[in-house]
Parts: sequence; structure tokens; C-alpha cells
Amino acid sequence: MAALMGQMMQMPLMISSLIVHAARHYGDTEIVSKRAEGDIHRTTWKATELRARQLAQALARLGCEAGDRVATLAWNGYRHLEIYYATSGSQLVCHTVNPRLFPEQIAWIVNDAEDKVLCFDLTFLPLIDKLAPALKTVKHFVLMTDRAHMPASTAIPGLLCYDDLVDAENGDYMWPEFDENTAATICYTSGTTGNPKGAVYSHRSTLLHTYASALPDSLGCSAKDVILPVVPMFHVNAWGLPYSVPLVGAKLVFPGPHLDGKSLYELFETEKVTFSAGVPTVWLGLITYAQSNKLKFSTFKRTVIGGSACPPAMMRTLENDFGVEVIHAWGMTEMSPIGTVSKLKASHEKLDAEAKHRLLEKQGRVVYGVDMMILDDDEKPLPWDGKASGNLVVRGPWIIQRYFRHERSPLVKVNGQDWFPTGDVATIDEDGYMQITDRSKDVIKSGGEWISSIDLENIAMAHPAVHEAAAIACKHPKWDERPLLVVVKKPGAEASAQDILGFFEGRIAKWQIPDDVVFVNEIPHTATGKIQKLKLRDQFKEHKLPGV
Ligand code: ADP
Repeated sequence: MAALMGQMMQMPLMISSLIVHAARHYGDTEIVSKRAEGDIHRTTWKATELRARQLAQALARLGCEAGDRVATLAWNGYRHLEIYYATSGSQLVCHTVNPRLFPEQIAWIVNDAEDKVLCFDLTFLPLIDKLAPALKTVKHFVLMTDRAHMPASTAIPGLLCYDDLVDAENGDYMWPEFDENTAATICYTSGTTGNPKGAVYSHRSTLLHTYASALPDSLGCSAKDVILPVVPMFHVNAWGLPYSVPLVGAKLVFPGPHLDGKSLYELFETEKVTFSAGVPTVWLGLITYAQSNKLKFSTFKRTVIGGSACPPAMMRTLENDFGVEVIHAWGMTEMSPIGTVSKLKASHEKLDAEAKHRLLEKQGRVVYGVDMMILDDDEKPLPWDGKASGNLVVRGPWIIQRYFRHERSPLVKVNGQDWFPTGDVATIDEDGYMQITDRSKDVIKSGGEWISSIDLENIAMAHPAVHEAAAIACKHPKWDERPLLVVVKKPGAEASAQDILGFFEGRIAKWQIPDDVVFVNEIPHTATGKIQKLKLRDQFKEHKLPGV
């Protein structure tokens, strides 16, 4: 017998529906941006939706057609948001390029995506002046500013003014409906090994991710929130906030290029920000600024931290000294990005504060829609006992099936199902809390046993003199690899290598304590603010460990 089919409306899940919803129901709710031009700009969801329609008209007038890619090289700001919606909403594909990459990488990515239009902030005018000839497929260069800030002379052919383009249109445009599996955005991984790879998100995958990420036990956003994504819109779509904020109708605050502790603190206070999101390194700057100026936050209550492991010491400082709840989350470009979020279950309420903390320090439980497992080296599933650690694999409707233009599928088959190998090594406990011990390529293998670089960094970060720490593998004739700790001290702090190594005693098994500590002025970071382990390992490949 044929199955009885559901008899509900077939409405494709369209990204444009998010901004239409916000414009209709939260029309006067504000979007505030600190601009690359230096001033503060205020607009609303209603005005933004209209400008997105005008921009969709302008892009069509420039000759953009369904499937064409429009690249952005831009900070978090209202124009960037307009581009998000104008492109995806009109069946174009928004390609957010990370401006912190090397110029050659930027050119490589733009050429690989075959971007037709490139929209960029004023900050990047000198860069594009030089790079334009290398961007083979770009037909139109658009400077994201007003007429008054257009340069008198430039080497960029036919440079267009963003505000002129928008203002020339009347906004008499209906968002089209089309197949929800149509590509909406492309993000490239940062390519720490080899060339970057593109993840192509669809309208459907983005909307499902948006629903799931707005839930109370995910990011838990509400119409009453004032949300400031510090995480850039070029870093996996600011973890989906440009979509989940209009879904709930909250006020949105954009910091533009002003990401130092002082600028952020001032914006948090003047705009009454309640909720934020960012990688651990940005909080280092904000905490240092607030501590050294003896400042507290008056409205800021919660923040998501992810992208790399949030050191427990940072979570405690934010909570105990500033009253800010830290929501630890894990994900990746290939996952749109949200995979797990660390929130307590009802049954944990009875635990003491310390036990609650230990749970919240983990990367957390999956949000509905994501399925995960840990596998041993023979691809056999490992138990969820909080001890067995293995290769983490995931599946779900907002996880990539393949990379853009790559023939070979990255997926592995387990029990007849396709799973995406994350490259992370993790444990999962009985309650489903996942904890990352390492990226598989960062694990330190000492005498056949694995040492978690994240564990070592977390301990080091709790030492009062340590500003930032990275644990890397160093070659050892007997043990193959031994841990070396690279440390940046807090300004004016005194500590010797012995003091820091002594701090590990009793906090971790003796054989896991690093063999040596080196002090540096700075630890290199990737374009998404993560510690560049590859570079560090290279820098210290000749390092002589004591006793070797
Ligand atoms: P890229 O690989 O381009 O730097 P992604 O943002 O996609 O950027 O990186 C995803 C990886 O970041 C994950 O596979 C994981 O190794 C790491 N990561 C993300 N969030 C966390 C977290 N909360 N704790 C530990 N590692 C994390």
C-alpha cells in the first residue's frame, strides 16, 4: 500500500523569510553599527529589509543571475547584513571572505568561488587596490560606503559606491520562492593544511540551523536581548547570529573593525548589550581591559564562547568577577557551525557548584539535528563513558556532504550510514556531554600514550601569571614526542619555567606534565583567532628539551 502523504503547505524554507519576519514583527527594533568610517550608525529591521530589497534590485541590474556568487570582505555591520539577505534572498550566493587571510589566499578563494561581485569595507581599499588584477572572475567591485568616502583616485576598475547602488533603486521587489536546497552562502575553511575548502550551505540547511540554534538550550536568544556578535560575519556566518537574531526579533549591535577591549567595552555599555559570542582570544582583550580599569558590565549577562576550547579559568573569571554566564559551544565550518552547546540538564541542578562547572567546561550536548559518535581507529563506535576517547564523527541536515568542487566525498560509512569525520578527538559521557581532547593533528603522542594539549593549556591558563598558553609536541628520542608549553606572560607578571611546571603538580598525571616552558611575546593566531599550532611546532622544531 502506498504511504499516506502529509497534507500540509509546501513552503520552501527561505532565508528571506527571516528578515521579512523581523521587519513585520520587530520593525522598529534597532540595528546599531560601529562603522569602518568611525561613527555609529542606527537603523531598524524594517529599514534593513527595504535596503536589502533595493540591493537585490541593484545586483540584478549589475547582471547578477541565479547562482552567481557575491563576495564580501567586510567587518560586522549593517551593510554586510543587507548583503547577506539581498544575495541569498534573490537566489545569489553570498561568499564571506576572511580578510585576515594572506592576500594570495584571498585571491585563491575568490577565484575558486568564481565570485562575480566583490563588496568590501573601506579598511580593505588598499588591499583590493593591489589585489584587483588577480581576481579574475570579479566583474564589479563595490566599496561599502557612501559617496563622501569614495576615494578620489583608485586602481580598481569601475569602482562602485555601495550606497549609490542601493539609493538608486525603489525597493519594489518581491522576495522570490524557489527550491530550498538552493545554495545560499559559501564559507571556506581556513586551510591550515593545504588549500582552503568551500562549504556550500543551502536555504534549508541554514533555516534548520537557525531554528535549532535559537532554542533555549542552544544559544537561547530572545526578543528582549541586545546581541553583539564579536565573532565575525566572515567566520562561519557569525555562528548563525545574523539569521537567529531576526528570527527572535532582538536588537543587533555590530562592532565593525573596532574589536579591542576598550571599544568593545564601551559599545557593550552604551548599547546595553545582554548577549554576545566570540572565540576565547577576543575575551582575553576585553577581560584585561575591564580588569585593569576596574570596570564591571551593567547589562551583559551571557556569552557563547567557542571556535577553540574555552579555558576554564576564563569561564570562571567571566562568571565570578563579571557575572557573565559562559556558554561553551563547539562546531566547525563544515557544520554551519553549531554542533554542541554546554548547558545543564534538570537532573544536574542538585549537583554542587564544582560538579556543575566541570560539566559546563565540556563542549556540551548536541543540539537537536546533529548526531554524533566517537570511533576507534578501526571505525568501531566507542562507549559513552566519559573515558574512552576517539575520532568524533557527526551527521545532520546542516553538515556538509562534500566540499565545493571536490569530487571525493569526505564522509565515512559506519553501519551503512554516512558520517562526517570532524578531525577532533573527544570523549562523550553517559549524559551525552562531549569533550574535545584535541584536534587529531595536535595530539601529543608520548610513548604510545596520548596527552591532550587542551588539558595542558587549560591548566596553564589558570596560573595567575599566564596570559595565553599553547602546548605542542616536541620531538623526543625516547618517547617520540613530549609536551612543550609556550607561554605569554601577563604584562608585568613574574614567573619562571619552574614555577609554571610546579603548578601542574597534582593537577594532572606526572608523565603528562610538560618537559619545558618557553616564554614568548606573542603566540601566532590563525585568521579565525585560533592558536596556530602548525606554525608553533615549526618554530620550535629544533627546541632541545631538558635532559635530551
Ligand atoms: P577552521 O578549521 O577553518 O579554523 P573552524 O571554525 O571550522 O575553522 O574550526 C573548527 C574546529 O575548531 C573544530 O573542529 C575544533 O577542532 C575547533 N573547535 C571549535 N570549537 C571548539 C571548542 N569549543 N573547543 C575545542 N575546539 C573547538
